[in-house]
Amino acid sequence: MTSRALVLFSGGQDSTTALAWALERFDAVETVGFDYGQRHRVELECRLAIREKLPRLSSLYAERLGPDHLVDLASLGAISETALTRQSEIAFAETGLPTTFVPGRNLIFLTFAAALAYRRDARHIVLGVCETDYSGYPDCRDDTIKAMQVALGLGLDRRLVLHTPLMWRDKAQTFALARRLGGQPLLDLVIADSHSCYLGDRTTRHDWGHGCGHCPACDLRAKGFAAFLSAPDDSGPSDDS
Ligand code: ZN
Repeated sequence: MTSRALVLFSGGQDSTTALAWALERFDAVETVGFDYGQRHRVELECRLAIREKLPRLSSLYAERLGPDHLVDLASLGAISETALTRQSEIAFAETGLPTTFVPGRNLIFLTFAAALAYRRDARHIVLGVCETDYSGYPDCRDDTIKAMQVALGLGLDRRLVLHTPLMWRDKAQTFALARRLGGQPLLDLVIADSHSCYLGDRTTRHDWGHGCGHCPACDLRAKGFAAFLSAPDDSGPSDDS
């Protein structure tokens, strides 16, 4: 039986690595992205470039990578007064969360993804969320994702499995995983074409990729890459669930 997966693919480092992970594991892989008026809209262009380049890296990727879906969630941007969707300063609020936090974003993404997976007959949903090395977003936590798996399965009356291969990996281990999965060509693609910078800067190139170099996303990526260079083995969890 063909195993089908839908990957939440934003064009960032994490979701690009999660997509490669899914392509290794499932027979047919589709991608979904969300346009919610994010400031770093350039990631929507990056995701198309990555989808175009991935099949050139491997015949397996070429065989398994299926259609892309882009969902318009402009209403999410409209109700979210955050630094990701408005021209305001990126900082840490009194709650301890960065002002880039879009409340409930992953819950909404997952609900739309599940509806799409249902229609596309995909039992597996893959997302690159991470509890280890992130900004503390509560909708990226393992418990949140597990609870969503239960809620979506019940609400759709169909078993859905949510996979989070990066949950317990830090950024350095995520770079290492990309290289383990697809060798240097995949790592090079992740560095050159995936987008992390919250400000949408793709004019400045660093050894870890493009970005302003100062926002929290750039900071995390730069530090992760430096740590990867000093300890380049994938020492992340081996179960890869
Ligand atoms: Zn940046």
